[in-house]
Amino acid sequence: MLLLMNKLEMGTTYYADIPNLTWRKGDEVGYNPLTYVPKDLDDIDVPGYRYTIRSVFKYKNFLDPLPYNGWLQYPNTALLTARGCTQNCLICGGSREAYEQNCRRHSLALRSPAKLISDIQFISRFSRAPIFILHDLRQGGREYVDEFFQRLKKLHLKNEIVFELFQYADEAYFKQIEESVPNYSVEITLETHDEKIREYNGKFSCTNAKVIETLNSALKHSCKKIDLFFMVGIPGQTPQSAVENIDFCETIHLACSKDPRIYYFVAPLAPFLDPASPAFEHPEIYGYKKLCHTLEDHRKAIAQPSWKHMLSYETKDMTRNDIVNSTYESAERLNDFKLTYGLIDHDSYEDIKWKIEKSKEYIREIDRILALPEAEQAKALAELRKEIEQLNSYSICGKNELKWEVQKNYANFYSLALVGLEQLYQDYVNKIKYLLRPKKRLQFTLDPEQGKGKL
Ligand code: SF4
Repeated sequence: MLLLMNKLEMGTTYYADIPNLTWRKGDEVGYNPLTYVPKDLDDIDVPGYRYTIRSVFKYKNFLDPLPYNGWLQYPNTALLTARGCTQNCLICGGSREAYEQNCRRHSLALRSPAKLISDIQFISRFSRAPIFILHDLRQGGREYVDEFFQRLKKLHLKNEIVFELFQYADEAYFKQIEESVPNYSVEITLETHDEKIREYNGKFSCTNAKVIETLNSALKHSCKKIDLFFMVGIPGQTPQSAVENIDFCETIHLACSKDPRIYYFVAPLAPFLDPASPAFEHPEIYGYKKLCHTLEDHRKAIAQPSWKHMLSYETKDMTRNDIVNSTYESAERLNDFKLTYGLIDHDSYEDIKWKIEKSKEYIREIDRILALPEAEQAKALAELRKEIEQLNSYSICGKNELKWEVQKNYANFYSLALVGLEQLYQDYVNKIKYLLRPKKRLQFTLDPEQGKGKL
């Protein structure tokens, strides 16, 4: 970006030597090869919370920089620990193979423990809500993990930290977390109870006994909440296997002494099969039938009136109908399971049950309308539109089940004000530096070997 700005500033329109740039000049379109692949994530903030806070104060615009609707009520934040992945899950567009083929990334780029801790410290100065550490920290190796937790411990953090697990974790790992931070939760996308499918797909490729051992170890070491996700539509899954995930929820629940800190979720792989994922790139190998190929196919699909018709794929074992039906059947069974073991109250149970019923009803109604002659479809869909909008906001889990508990949303007023003033001050310093040394940006060069920029 700096190289491009340099060119624009000098009035040069020769862009062919700027790595990674795709550009258009009149009718001319250029695509420069990906020759610059940064080796670590220390040069840029991802996400840029400092920039966001600075924007709030600088432009006195409070709402635009907010990351999502409702953030002020529930201001949780996330930090990206790595770009790329050591895993190669078949349905993931951010998998090892996808990064290799699309970004020429052959190894993981990590945010260093020192930078991550500085990010966490910065967030804790304006927010008291949970901080989600995206990706499994253990991708960085033993030393990386040890350094991260040693530094974290010294922070005496008040925020809860949420850790993601890609694979089995032993007791020592949770003990290390417990000793470093007073509040933590865990996220696991297990996807299926079927050990063979997990092995095939890549994530949590271990026995179910090991899965349960992982959960019990986390619970033993004061984990506040474990979110466990199952999925419908993964490679090798049949409708029966998808529904059987709920039996495994019960097995886990009983094997974990009915601990209510485990939250169970089920969701379809929807609406799209990740472009760039191994399953998208080689559907015939992994048992997928792609219904959308181009960007335009996906654009058309997302405009469909129900998620069933948005689905960009089927599998050799599941049609669109099977995916939809198994999803709702799993959701119903999950709801029953939660009520049986007192994991939700009766009102929530009834609420979710009603939403599932209503969703199924709309899916059937939309199917009926789409079978009408084309001229009649638009009118019938327009009549349903309001209800369809509601349908899209229906969820098949409880309203707050996905949220981590927050005692206090923000840091105190003085801390918030200080953070804002510091960022404004930094902005002025940058401006003055630029005025005094206007040529500095022009000296920017890239070192593709190191994947680093140099000023
Ligand atoms: S889904 Fe698999 S490949 Fe994708 S980011 Fe997670 S662990 Fe990595």
